[in-house]
Amino acid sequence: MRWCSSSAFHLLRCVRLRLCSRRGQNRLPLWIREIWAYMRLLAKSLYFNSLTDSDVVFDSVFEPVFLTVDYVTRWFGLVFVYLVVILTSSIVGIAYVVLLPLILNTYSPPWIAWHVCYGHWNLIMIAFHYYKAANTSPGYPPTEKHDGPVVSVCKKCIIPKPARTHHCGICNRCILKMDHHCPWLNNCVGHFNHRYFFSFCLFMTLGCIYCSISGRNLFLDAYNALETHYQTPAPPYTFKDKMIHKSIIYMWVLTSTVGVALGALTFWHAVLISRGETSIERHINSKETKRMAKWGKVYRNPFNYSRLNNWKIFLGVEKRSHWVTRVLLPSAHPPHGDGLTWAVFPVKKDLIPV
Ligand SMILES: [Zn+2]
Ligand SMILES: [Zn+2]
Repeated sequence: MRWCSSSAFHLLRCVRLRLCSRRGQNRLPLWIREIWAYMRLLAKSLYFNSLTDSDVVFDSVFEPVFLTVDYVTRWFGLVFVYLVVILTSSIVGIAYVVLLPLILNTYSPPWIAWHVCYGHWNLIMIAFHYYKAANTSPGYPPTEKHDGPVVSVCKKCIIPKPARTHHCGICNRCILKMDHHCPWLNNCVGHFNHRYFFSFCLFMTLGCIYCSISGRNLFLDAYNALETHYQTPAPPYTFKDKMIHKSIIYMWVLTSTVGVALGALTFWHAVLISRGETSIERHINSKETKRMAKWGKVYRNPFNYSRLNNWKIFLGVEKRSHWVTRVLLPSAHPPHGDGLTWAVFPVKKDLIPV
């Protein structure tokens, strides 16, 4: 109490001294100027920060928007997952019911073998990696006291944060090596499921491109046939024929659209993995690069171990055969490291002898 009263007294003295130095410039009574100055000081004490920059102002202004997006994403979590499952199942259903009989009746045995083998391999890779990405915990820092290295404290969880850990507003907790929160997985993408997420995006893109290219002629035939549905006299298409035409058009449009959009996203993530950075670190590193450039220095990402090594570490490739068993086949091997400690010094180029 005594401390509070002495602080308030000191504050008022400062205000009075400041006002005294300007005496004569303002003809308002002193007590009004004193109250006005005190109110201004109080107001400034609420928001003034010497570290404030345009990013802080932007984040503060849009905080209600971010909170609303977080809330809606959390609420709609399972809706997006159901959407992925339903849309993918519809394409697989059309492939089995409409395309497979056509392939078996019209294609040569080598082409039949290619479509059956590739199609099923691609489908298994999509289903496996989606299931693992959505159901694997991204990894959380320990909430109890520990001796591991930390770089800061999370202001929301009030726990120490290891390097590369960030707080997710939707999951409402800290995530190890957080990349982003994915609404399509209803899960955060972090240290333990980053590879599953990327592999899912890659194989889903490949699957869409495969459907789009191999179904192109069927799509053009179906599109031309659909245009003749409304001619007089109507062509002799049965209800089953019309449904087949519409299914093929639906499949081609959906797979082509998703192939382009997801392909762009997968490409961007591949670029980030090559650089040894996550989506969040991309922003941090570009800011640091600009900041260091002002001082005439070059910023170097401490988690970039050279392009090929970044990929080997990310995919868990430790020997040559792993490119097949761990990359081209479904594999549940854990990622390199525990997500808490990171080798920040450059690793030799021949770290992994492949
Ligand atoms: Zn946190
Ligand atoms: Zn999250």
